[in-house]
Amino acid sequence: MTSQGNNLDRWYGSYAERTAGLAASEVRALFAVASRPEVVSLAGGMPFVSALPRELVSGAMERVMRDKGPVALQYGSGQGVPALREQILEVMALEGIRANVDDVVVTTGSQHALELVAKIFLDPGDVVLAEAPSYVTAMVVFKSFQAQVEHVLTDEHGLVPSALREHIARLRAQGRRIKFLYTVPTFGNPSGITMSWERRLEVLEIARANDILVLEDNPYGLLYFDGPPPHAMRSVEEEGVIYLGTFSKTLAPGFRVGWALAPHAIREKLILANEAAVLSPSSLTQMIISEYLSTADWKGQIDTFRGVYRERRDAMLQALTDYLPDLSWTVPNGGFYVWLTLPDNVDSKSMLPRAVKELVAYTPGTAFYANGDGRTHMRLAFCYPTPDFIREGIRRLSTVINGELEL
Ligand code: PMP
Repeated sequence: MTSQGNNLDRWYGSYAERTAGLAASEVRALFAVASRPEVVSLAGGMPFVSALPRELVSGAMERVMRDKGPVALQYGSGQGVPALREQILEVMALEGIRANVDDVVVTTGSQHALELVAKIFLDPGDVVLAEAPSYVTAMVVFKSFQAQVEHVLTDEHGLVPSALREHIARLRAQGRRIKFLYTVPTFGNPSGITMSWERRLEVLEIARANDILVLEDNPYGLLYFDGPPPHAMRSVEEEGVIYLGTFSKTLAPGFRVGWALAPHAIREKLILANEAAVLSPSSLTQMIISEYLSTADWKGQIDTFRGVYRERRDAMLQALTDYLPDLSWTVPNGGFYVWLTLPDNVDSKSMLPRAVKELVAYTPGTAFYANGDGRTHMRLAFCYPTPDFIREGIRRLSTVINGELEL
């Protein structure tokens, strides 16, 4: 590539083509404004880590340092600490998954697992199928490997099987190469929607019949408010599913510990890719989590998180009913997000600066589509602000939306 004349970046002409997909996400650009204290941010999906008693963590940290310091401070296995991988099996059992300790690969958060899966599967021009709408930073990863994201229609029960079937047939007829179906089936980001059990089985059947791998990303499954969701897709299908989990929402994202559960051959490639990327995931944080899981009431702590988020979900739904009764939104049974639908003539992206001026922030729906759709939607995250702030945030938002309608 030749260098581009007047660009301020001296290295402008040297970057790999794949970096074109690495535009700063709308979510990230928002963090700067949304983190000002006077702004009620319904934008970022930050876990409310203050609900985790810090002494539980500091006790685990001290014991790890005292009893296993030299191991914790050393490089470790590229697959992850064996004791933690055993404990991850217990976590996944809560969602109906039975697996072998050898099938688990620990990663630096599930975000890194997304990167590793993309790295071992995606060539330029490959297609990734994804829900409409879909998790923004997964799409950033897929695009950074020059893959194309094709959205599949969803309704209140998740992916629509007939639409999935048709979409696959259409793409195949065009000679496109579909590498996998990426889904967040439980308390989706950004939709808050959960795929029903029947749909999970149908989607798996379609994937099987078409030889398409399923990438099941499940960070929120244990954070349910109204009873447990359907079991993970991986609970009924081993060979055709890569399952991703994380401690970011059930413990804390600062540890940067997640995992992938994959069939044998894929797992071997993931380990090699993990080693190439980081040599080994952090021994220190894995061992602290392992100690925490051995000594603390971690299931009780997940219950505490559920209580916190349930109260905030309820506050958001009530405020929406009170302040924006004419609009429609999803009612999540867990997780962090509500997906709001605006009137046809309101554009969530162009409205955002006015919202920030009114001291409320959200994520425009366009962030969650690879094709520019989503203008009449927005994602509202209820995980971080207190119920009072959520109510005030929705009140401010209603002022902005009503102002837009009067324009
Ligand atoms: N997948 C989804 C659907 C998410 O919402 C997130 C966090 N926002 C991640 C993956 C990444 O989580 P982490 O890397 O912290 O495990």
